[in-house]
Amino acid sequence: MQIHPIFQHILEFLIPSSCAYCRSPVNGTGIPRFCGQCWADFARINGPVCPRCGKPFGSPEALIHSPGHECASCRRDPPQYDQALAAGLFEGPLREAIHLYKYRPLSALGRPLATWMAGQVAFDAKPDIVMPVPLHRKRLRSRGFNQALLLAHGISKKFDLTLCYDNLVRIRPTRPQVELTGAERTANVKGAFSLLRPTEVKSRGILLIDDVLTTGATMSECSRVLKEAGSGSVVALTLARTAE
Ligand SMILES: [Zn+2]
Ligand SMILES: [Zn+2]
Repeated sequence: MQIHPIFQHILEFLIPSSCAYCRSPVNGTGIPRFCGQCWADFARINGPVCPRCGKPFGSPEALIHSPGHECASCRRDPPQYDQALAAGLFEGPLREAIHLYKYRPLSALGRPLATWMAGQVAFDAKPDIVMPVPLHRKRLRSRGFNQALLLAHGISKKFDLTLCYDNLVRIRPTRPQVELTGAERTANVKGAFSLLRPTEVKSRGILLIDDVLTTGATMSECSRVLKEAGSGSVVALTLARTAE
């Protein structure tokens, strides 16, 4: 059974809850289901990363000698986006927060997560348009909100960027990527996206937003559609990415 977000807010207010990650009491953080310590402990990405997909490198060696050095999977199968950035690593309390946000689903986490995400990222060049990865209407109906749109909204506010959520659309339902292996993920999203007004992205720099990047198949497929319509650079930004 799904609880309406308003009742969820009232319940959180009436019944002081324990932290979803460490189970200690949540006191006055203003963040549903998280204590301040766990929220502050979200895993950041501090070390060297692949300049294309953002995958953390085990050692800084490769980048010292060649700053543009891309990881093996980007060299083998270059993604369609120009760069992928992630605010944090998909582990520990951040992973728990994303699970609650997306699968419970707890939309009230959208705003604090977007604020945290916006505080972790910087852009080399300011994008023109922010776009969330769209959900298919059936998924949207069952979840009640697009988790990527709430994040995109926060990012657009923080960086004063134009938000567009009704141009890039998912034209067929796809299986949840979490159920699939790498090769299956690519096939699952192939041809799943389209632009309703392709001319609007022509020569524009696009910032694509999603919650988690794993293989990057979804981001790459969205980027392919944007690039085919003549967009400028596409930067894929997620709240978290996996370490592998
Ligand atoms: Zn905690
Ligand atoms: Zn890479």
